[in-house]
Amino acid sequence: MLEIDLSHTPQPGERPVSVRLRRGAEASVRRGEPWVFDTAVTRVSHDGAAGDTAVLYDHRNKLVGVGLFDPDSPIRVRVLASGGAAVGPALFAERIDAALERREALSQAPNTTGWRVLHGPNDGLPGLVADLYASTLVLKFYSAAWTPRLRTTLPHLLGALARRGVVVDRVVTRTARAVADAFARLGLGDGAVFGAALDGPVLFHENGIVYEAEPIVGQKTGFFLDQRENRERIEALAAGRATLNVFSYTGGFSLYAARGGAARVRSVDISAPASAACERNFAHNRKDPRIAATDHRAVTGDAFEVLDAMRRDGERFGLVIIDPPSFAKRAAETERALHAYARLARLGLDVLEPGGVIALASCSSRVTPDAFRENAERTARAHGRPLDVFDVTGQPVDHPATFADAAYLKCIYARA
Ligand code: SAH
Repeated sequence: MLEIDLSHTPQPGERPVSVRLRRGAEASVRRGEPWVFDTAVTRVSHDGAAGDTAVLYDHRNKLVGVGLFDPDSPIRVRVLASGGAAVGPALFAERIDAALERREALSQAPNTTGWRVLHGPNDGLPGLVADLYASTLVLKFYSAAWTPRLRTTLPHLLGALARRGVVVDRVVTRTARAVADAFARLGLGDGAVFGAALDGPVLFHENGIVYEAEPIVGQKTGFFLDQRENRERIEALAAGRATLNVFSYTGGFSLYAARGGAARVRSVDISAPASAACERNFAHNRKDPRIAATDHRAVTGDAFEVLDAMRRDGERFGLVIIDPPSFAKRAAETERALHAYARLARLGLDVLEPGGVIALASCSSRVTPDAFRENAERTARAHGRPLDVFDVTGQPVDHPATFADAAYLKCIYARA
């Protein structure tokens, strides 16, 4: 197993920090939301350090829950449990074991070596995400509260993976900007912290397809692992259809469409490095005769402009996938996001052959599944191409959603 030495990292403080909440603020904890903001706090017992145990009390001094204290973040406490729980290595071990149990099928899948191991608060580990790309484990930290907790948590995680036959020979850490310094000071800055240095993308398999992931410079931790099941659906729908993958990033959907027998595949993304990686991903899969035989082109450009040009040029597709970035990071942007989704739906329908299939995805938690679907259906009807929705999907098992805002991903499939 990988030799890891975290003896230089801090220990959590022994004295729990008592955190008193403003009247009513306990409701969110009771609902299972993982964040207590500084604005909800009226009093703390003492100057605790990041990662100390926080014990939450309501304004009447009744115990509300426990979590990890984070004095330098507006998210003052990352909640671990409502009610009481002993915060320590055993709790984190239990959470890790439960997370791996939930993903048992993925960890044993012979042709899939890329999946999300820990999905932050939804696996009871708020502020910590872990993704696996073959033998490279990528940890993404959103909170300095993890600095004193790693010395027990990381060995347990590696041990639990090893027991399932998952070999990890490199650990890469990546930090949210606000906590970069706290981790860099411990030698846990962005990069490979255990195992061989990263000298380019990491290759892994998803359902037998080879992909590159760029854990440090890529989006998320290098790949959109959350779309795996939607990609499988696209493979099953692609046979004989000219396929257009809009917001293609590194070609996730494009390769499945090619393997599924698409007549031709076009990938569109605004990022030139993403398009280049998309072309490389096709090259990595040359051994698959269906992928090798596919007429594929990665187009670098703005999706709205490229779609409009295709419409004018009469270029048409039997399968169109539109998976844009999150247009609404804040609640106030929801309306604007719905407008952008509507514009994209119209543009997608304009290049869709009559009777073709369109897949519309949204990764914005601010736009509910119902609002997204209703917006798409209304837009399509008004555009003279009503949707015959035949499938609606959410998040896969390695991206569980345990509280309202955690359900971000939805995809609707329709004939039009
Ligand atoms: N479907 C992809 C993930 C898409 S992420 C997958 O399964 O892997 C969103 C992508 O949209 C990013 O790659 C980003 O570069 C791209 N993007 C953002 N704005 C864009 C625009 N205006 N036109 C085209 N692509 C855009």
